[in-house]
Amino acid sequence: MRQAVQGVTSRAAGNLGLNSDRLRASMIERLRRQGIQDERVLNAMQAVPRHIFVDEGLASRAYEDAALPIGHGQTISQPWVVARMIAAVCENRVPVKVLEVGAGCGYQTAVLAQFVKEVHAIERIRGLYEPARDRLRALRLMARVRLIYGDGMAGLPGVAPFDAIVVAAAGIKIPQGLLEQLAIGGRLIAPEGTTAQRLILIERTGAANWRRVELESVRFVPLRSGVQPY
Ligand code: SAH
Repeated sequence: MRQAVQGVTSRAAGNLGLNSDRLRASMIERLRRQGIQDERVLNAMQAVPRHIFVDEGLASRAYEDAALPIGHGQTISQPWVVARMIAAVCENRVPVKVLEVGAGCGYQTAVLAQFVKEVHAIERIRGLYEPARDRLRALRLMARVRLIYGDGMAGLPGVAPFDAIVVAAAGIKIPQGLLEQLAIGGRLIAPEGTTAQRLILIERTGAANWRRVELESVRFVPLRSGVQPY
């Protein structure tokens, strides 16, 4: 298994023709300059080989601060956005059980799994879900990750409550069902809006109380219902 991991990482790293540890270290320095302070998040992003989550032809761009295409009309989120979202939901807390809606290539799932014990991640496009599952397996993260092919709009009521929920696709409104699946004191972050989008951070402060804060403008792919079986 270890050989498989090395195979995946060194093959992709070979494509870079460069030392991917160094590229990641400069990505981490950039994230610090951009205001990311949570060492758990920075360490996790230093550890995860982001270039194996994109097509080989884009591997050399994997450490730029840019969203990149991952096929099926979807994107891998820009590193700053991944860091910002995870840091916001984890601030002053140690989340044990986290839900991710919109796993895509699996990068953010892998980052979360570096320091969260139980990551439940949902992806609605089968053609993305399958390679994401293979990558997470190759990185030996499946003990901490449950990756589900399905529509994440309704969350996972049977697994809730979650300490944190990260939604990686933008809807007109954040689904109420997801807010109900937060533990009290738990936080959800999601982009909201269609053409103009903003990151919204919501904390559940009581059984029937949620506090909402609007953060930065962002650009995400749309949250869609149902699944895409190819
Ligand atoms: N988390 C990714 C971002 C992937 S882009 C990263 O690490 O960069 C967002 C993903 O959300 C897309 O793959 C899209 O197919 C998925 N998505 C959109 N609506 C969804 C839904 N209702 N349930 C599950 N996944 C959804």
